[in-house]
Amino acid sequence: MSEQWIYLDGEYVTKENAKVSVFDHGFLYGDGIFEGIRIYNGNIFKCKEHLDRLYDSAKSIDLVIPLAYEELLEAMAETIRRNDMRNGYIRIVVSRGAGNLGLDPRRCPKPTVLIIVEQLAIYSDEAYLNGLKAVSVAQRRNIPDALNPKIKSLNYLNNILVKIQSNFAGADEAIMMNAQGYVTEGSGDNIFIVKNGVVTTPPCYLGALEGITRQAIIDLCEKLGIKLKEEPFSMHDVYIADEVFFTGTAAEVIAAREIDGRIIGKGQAGPVTLQLLEEFRKIVDQDGYKVWES
Ligand code: PMP
Repeated sequence: MSEQWIYLDGEYVTKENAKVSVFDHGFLYGDGIFEGIRIYNGNIFKCKEHLDRLYDSAKSIDLVIPLAYEELLEAMAETIRRNDMRNGYIRIVVSRGAGNLGLDPRRCPKPTVLIIVEQLAIYSDEAYLNGLKAVSVAQRRNIPDALNPKIKSLNYLNNILVKIQSNFAGADEAIMMNAQGYVTEGSGDNIFIVKNGVVTTPPCYLGALEGITRQAIIDLCEKLGIKLKEEPFSMHDVYIADEVFFTGTAAEVIAAREIDGRIIGKGQAGPVTLQLLEEFRKIVDQDGYKVWES
């Protein structure tokens, strides 16, 4: 296999040489932010939206990314070129950088920036047709007043804890509610329900990441004339839905066939989910920034 090149603080280094300090506050405290992006046929899908969200997350935690937008874009494109990547996953991480053992970010003079591109382990074709098994979990989504889920921070323990719960339940995905019992999102995806042809997704202020795939699906619904609502709902609405699906950069659009033991619809991906997946896959190599001309 050819060498994997990683962008690390202005340099392109091999995987073996990509080393970050043990005093980095990203490691010590989860102090930092990140993005997960896809490249399809040489096109970085929704590139601007992902970079904007990265800069917004940084601003929110008072972290200054030491690269201007165009510089970061070029670093990402160059990492892709050096790895000869046409299709894959891009991870950008910006941490507070190395400091001392105290948590004060003023002790971290230089943020760490890294970009990794890799092949993606995605769900099987079968999973897209048959859907996932999901469970709702006891662990609540971080309340926005404490750590706003709109920030794509390196602090993913909330999500990891629910993933552990769903693993113990033998499920593929977890559904997280907020403190009031409203459905928010999956462990790493946004959630949608379909009832009588109407698609509904929870508003992000309830405690969800403003998913870029989520927005792409909202836009597609509008384009296709599918009625869409952003409205709070509970697990009851999930159980009685005709279709339930998750959206995310890695997952794209994937149905749930069974949730907390209830069979959703016909127990496989429904027609609206499959239509949206098909339409979504038509735009992924169009809408974005082209590193390679296909
Ligand atoms: N929610 C969470 C918690 C996530 O980690 C992700 C993946 N980034 C999503 C939703 C989906 O967001 P996107 O469509 O931008 O990948």
